[in-house]
Amino acid sequence: DSFGTLSERLNSAWSALKDEDDLSVENISLPLKDIRRALLEADVSLPVVRRFIKSVEEKSIGVKVTKGVSASQQLTKVVADELCELMGGFGGDKLIFRKEGEGPTVILMAGLQGVGKTTACGKLALFLKAQGKQSLLVATDVYRPAAIDQLKKLGEQIDVPVFELGTDFSPPDIARSGVEKAKLENFDVVIVDTAGRLQVDEMLMAELLATKAATRADETLLVVDAMTGQEAASLTAAFNDAVGITGAVLTKMDGDTRGGAALSVREVSGKPIKFIGSGEKLDALEPFFPERMTTRILGMGDVVSLVERAQVAVKEEQANLMRDKILSATFDFNDFLSQLEMMGKMGGMGGLTKMMPGMNTMSDKELQDAEKSLSVAKSLIMSMTPRERQFPDLLVAGSSAASRRGRVVEGSGRSDKDLANLIVMFGSMRVKMQSLSAQMNGTAKEVGL
Ligand code: GDP
Repeated sequence: DSFGTLSERLNSAWSALKDEDDLSVENISLPLKDIRRALLEADVSLPVVRRFIKSVEEKSIGVKVTKGVSASQQLTKVVADELCELMGGFGGDKLIFRKEGEGPTVILMAGLQGVGKTTACGKLALFLKAQGKQSLLVATDVYRPAAIDQLKKLGEQIDVPVFELGTDFSPPDIARSGVEKAKLENFDVVIVDTAGRLQVDEMLMAELLATKAATRADETLLVVDAMTGQEAASLTAAFNDAVGITGAVLTKMDGDTRGGAALSVREVSGKPIKFIGSGEKLDALEPFFPERMTTRILGMGDVVSLVERAQVAVKEEQANLMRDKILSATFDFNDFLSQLEMMGKMGGMGGLTKMMPGMNTMSDKELQDAEKSLSVAKSLIMSMTPRERQFPDLLVAGSSAASRRGRVVEGSGRSDKDLANLIVMFGSMRVKMQSLSAQMNGTAKEVGL
């Protein structure tokens, strides 16, 4: 594997961590030194490494080691999460397509010669074809006639048409004509193979800007070679500063890359890697998923999922506590608040309702709205007195209810409507809880408990 050395180095980094209950400044300092060295050896730039280590440090210190995993596994999880963030976060960044009826989506492919730009154009067309999107490839590399032939050959292999006007027109003009044709013939996507250069120069940038303007491109992807390490990242930053790009395609990931490019592009340029190429064949292109790359780099997906499973087990304990609450049907604002706090830690409302028996019936829309009101709800509950939290009806019935509500609203900085919504939300949750409780008690009786 191309990340062999990096993952080995990272693996040995935490051997220094013995069985500790918490991660602390003292016990993570040696592993962090090793991680730092491993990243520098993988050709990640120093500023990126510094920021990364600082952030891992901040997130690890004081973290309790989850029951069932070791301290080093816990640290691995923090490092894995940070690596994933560094590369753009879970899920990655997708291509943005134009809506139906707005004409073809235009994608410019830019890059220096030899990085695999033309190949990437063919790969992308094939990738989109598999998604049912018909592309028109446009050859504009007028300085290298061989590149036009190369694109035509690629097009034939994957049965995707290639538009070209030879070498007598300027790249922006050819690209514009290509887009016109694609519009007339209802192609979904136009992929423009822009002119490459040996080095970054002003002409190249000016031409690229002109092509971008002429085609009103939706995506400008810079193709960079993973083998060039942090150089790929600074190149991405340079192109972004000069012409504004929407992302990078990282090629030659099948080679003996040390990982620096994959880890630095996003942090150095502010732009995401959108695809990776890992071979000369045309099907060797895949969308970039930071979490998958993290697993590859750490070479220890099993550990990450182990920690996740252990955390789920701990959550289940908490869920059982909640179950007891439900059974006794004494659900109040305190429970609600601790639920909200748990939700935050557990991937939101969706995560919680999945664990709660009988509550996984909320629709996605309901869940989304619920998520939105979580932080509002929290600030409102925080402004209630302990008695109000324990006896929610104080806010609804009785002579002091209105003045109580006024005080809560003022204290929380929210609106009357927010509080009204919270009360309704709480009310419906409590009704669910109580009917659930009746059900569960019924079942308990049936089985003779
Ligand atoms: P361009 O000059 O940037 O258009 O580069 P080409 O598309 O002509 O590719 C240059 C060389 O790199 C060719 O031999 C390709 O087969 C090779 N190449 C392109 N992408 C990859 C890749 O992901 N992995 C490997 N191993 N080789 C690649």
